[in-house]
Amino acid sequence: MTSGRLTIGAFVSIDKDQLQTLLECLQQVGYRTIGPQVRDGAVVYDDLASVNQLPVGQIDIQDGGHYRLEADESAGWFDYVVGPHSLKNFLFPARETIQQLTLQDGSWASTTPEVEGPPLAVIGVRGCDLNALKIQDRVFLEGPYVDPHYQARRERLFVVAVNCRRAAATCFCHSMGAGPAVSPGFDLALTEFTDRFVVEVGTDRGGEAMKTVPATLCSVEDIQTAKDVPKQLEKQMHARKPEDGHPQPRELDTTGIKELLLGNLQHPRWDDVAERCLACANCTMVCPTCFCSTVGEVTDLTNENVLRERTWASCFTGDHSYTSGGVVRPSVKSQYRQWLTHKLASWIDQFDSSGCVGCGRCITWCPVGIDITEEVAAIRGEDI
Ligand code: SF4
Ligand code: SF4
Repeated sequence: MTSGRLTIGAFVSIDKDQLQTLLECLQQVGYRTIGPQVRDGAVVYDDLASVNQLPVGQIDIQDGGHYRLEADESAGWFDYVVGPHSLKNFLFPARETIQQLTLQDGSWASTTPEVEGPPLAVIGVRGCDLNALKIQDRVFLEGPYVDPHYQARRERLFVVAVNCRRAAATCFCHSMGAGPAVSPGFDLALTEFTDRFVVEVGTDRGGEAMKTVPATLCSVEDIQTAKDVPKQLEKQMHARKPEDGHPQPRELDTTGIKELLLGNLQHPRWDDVAERCLACANCTMVCPTCFCSTVGEVTDLTNENVLRERTWASCFTGDHSYTSGGVVRPSVKSQYRQWLTHKLASWIDQFDSSGCVGCGRCITWCPVGIDITEEVAAIRGEDI
């Protein structure tokens, strides 16, 4: 058994039941623990008081416009992949008050509300979402303006990541270099074995949290086996090996993608996709990297107290491109083209990375099954 704080880079083995001990340790030091669980037929993130709430033995069958959970006797504790929620829902909530204004003696006094509530510990974060977190960090923390609300939550965030050992048919993280293995940025990372978890320590905070969790140091063989789990999955994804009876995993060829998309702004495929797209904005809502927002003001009946509220916005609305007395992108064609070319092309100039991590959410949760990988392939002139 290990004793004391574990060092960064340590690998230990814990019995599956000891995940509950870790959860309780995090709760005791003040974290609000969040984790995957089933609600309304989908795996979502919500308060996780006990590991009994995890969707153990469930897998998710995902495809364009399709999501179903199925019991699978070979499934472990984390063999479903991503649902409609991501870390974005917690660090950059869909609605929040960013400023309060009060009329006092004829002039307005302004305050910025403190971010309230305990720090968050999120269990079950996948490789794609850890990369999406890094992208959102670039947007909210690393530009000329630092968002104080995001920053307050982000600095206190504790991440327990999970290496995927199964992919859905909508996953293409391997094409985007964003998974399935988790990359640095986690506090702890779990790899599931049949009877136990291998835990990798990513930070001193992670090592501290494991201090009282009964664990044994891993053998060299165990460490290698744990590292091989996501590598094996990645190989299967590259081979586009279908799950039994289910569609093949996606892939997206990113070769010269910026030039491809920006050089094809008049391609007939934009008309084709506009015929199918409902401009419902689902894809932007579920995307873990989309960051657009709008600000509105809510006054009380006296008109002396005003709340300035930020809500998620989407490039699929007319308001989004309203400027200087007109809407710049009034058609669905121009809105979809803006979304896809920003995500995969102009994002590279803006943030030095792609805006897509290949999580596949926009494919699954599009009510008409529009598939970003298929749209790019069509513009590339591939048979789809
Ligand atoms: S564009 Fe689609 S696949 Fe890419 S990160 Fe957003 S939701 Fe995931
Ligand atoms: S691509 Fe799909 S999810 Fe996105 S706006 Fe169009 S219909 Fe809605």
